[in-house]
Amino acid sequence: MSDQGPTPVPNSTKSFWKTQPHRLDSHRSTAQLPAESDVVIIGAGFAGAALAHFIYADNPSPPSVVILEAREACSGATARNGGHLKPDVYFNVPKYIKKYGNKAAVEVANFEALQVLAVKELVEKEKIDCEFTLTRACDVILDEDLARETEEAFAELSKSGVANLTDVHFTPRKDAERVSGVKGALNCFTFTAGHVWPYKLVMHLLAGAVNKGANLQTNTPVTHVSEKPLLDGRWLVTTERGTIKAKKILLATNAYTSRIAPEFKDHIVPVRGICSRIVVPKGSQAPFLPQTYSIRHGPSLYDYLIPRNDGSIIVGGAKPSWWSDTSQWYNVSDDSKLIEPALPHFEGLMQRTFIGWEKSDAYPDKIWTGIMGYSSDFMPYVGEVPKKPGQMVLAGFSGHGMPLILLSAKAIVEMFLHGKSFEETSVPSVFKATQERLDSTRNEITEGHGSEQENLRSKL
Ligand SMILES: Cc1cc2nc3c(=O)[nH]c(=O)nc-3n(C[C@H](O)[C@H](O)[C@H](O)COP(=O)(O)OP(=O)(O)OC[C@H]3O[C@@H](n4cnc5c(N)ncnc54)[C@H](O)[C@@H]3O)c2cc1C
Repeated sequence: MSDQGPTPVPNSTKSFWKTQPHRLDSHRSTAQLPAESDVVIIGAGFAGAALAHFIYADNPSPPSVVILEAREACSGATARNGGHLKPDVYFNVPKYIKKYGNKAAVEVANFEALQVLAVKELVEKEKIDCEFTLTRACDVILDEDLARETEEAFAELSKSGVANLTDVHFTPRKDAERVSGVKGALNCFTFTAGHVWPYKLVMHLLAGAVNKGANLQTNTPVTHVSEKPLLDGRWLVTTERGTIKAKKILLATNAYTSRIAPEFKDHIVPVRGICSRIVVPKGSQAPFLPQTYSIRHGPSLYDYLIPRNDGSIIVGGAKPSWWSDTSQWYNVSDDSKLIEPALPHFEGLMQRTFIGWEKSDAYPDKIWTGIMGYSSDFMPYVGEVPKKPGQMVLAGFSGHGMPLILLSAKAIVEMFLHGKSFEETSVPSVFKATQERLDSTRNEITEGHGSEQENLRSKL
């Protein structure tokens, strides 16, 4: 990675989601960049596309908008993820209560839960062909200590009445294998979730914005954004193809944010992840899997599995096989290479995991990597960039953007177009991009990792 900060690399691994490129995949609305624009959105993933969507939604006099994307449209984490819209409605809530207090923790959980239905509503309203499916997520715990701790924390959370747990169903050990279908399940939790074809969702939103006048410029990396506004208050955006003067800059740059907004260095860190598509040969035995699954092997060691309507399964994580080696993922922004130690984990994974799948012959037919933007406190950055009036950020989703981005993007647009303050939006207070967060020297990504490895070693 360059000293100047991470940047999207060429020749990224090919994800299953991009096997059918959209007509706007490498689109440039105009041959030359416009010299100026009211708004410049940097990044065309879910965050950038959602921002563009809300700028034009029900807006008879929208501002001029340019969307600058370093590679093809939707080629970052959004095009390489699991497509899992899984709100965190109970698992981390006790941790957030300890750290931020009841009110802030509940805000986060409720905000996440709301997004599943917000995405559903958007897909239905806009008639988006993205295979949105409303389902139940099933969290299955295989590790004795984690199962006990999670069960105790859940019981305490229920007793306290602080969080809304009406949608969360707990199954104890005696029934966990039967209810989850997962071998060795020690307990499991189910709750409402969704899944989508993320590339199709984003490309639909981008196409809608382009139809309404947005100027989309793919393969146009932004190399610099001025640190101070020009005398007229506008910001200068520099690319290899020229500069643009803009009143508003919206940073939807995920893992790569610190490259053009250096205050995010060490606060949004590129973290590499891996994902696959597993298929079952015709005629093989593979029982129907009615939910999505997270299989927890230890505190941060999990696989997530999203059965698709065509019978294939998107499987990500594979963490037990490589997460202990930080050089594979921490501060890694190269998604042109696979994570080699993870590859054997995908072989026979369905057979090892699910009851009745032993003779399925399921195998991975595609494996790819992607770069997540982990924030050093695990909370996304949403809102005005401190000390840079006119620059706003929507980034740092720590590998969990699908149930966070849509309503955060809506809130950003409410702020800069309709004059709302951050506090008047529905975004949790702990997501606000504050100077205090940028001043903090804590890095919970590496802190947590140390303790987790000790925990693991003690079990070997
Ligand atoms: C393997 C993997 C699996 C995941 N699985 C899930 C999951 O199942 N559920 C979930 O909730 N989340 C998941 N995530 C995380 C999720 O994908 C992200 O949180 C989300 O997609 C972030 O969206 P985004 O628009 O912020 O970022 P991105 O989709 O990464 O978009 C950012 C865009 O900005 C562009 N860009 C960056 N810098 C510049 C620049 N200087 N100039 C121009 N363009 C620039 C990039 O090229 C990129 O296209 C996963 C991520 C990975 C990698």
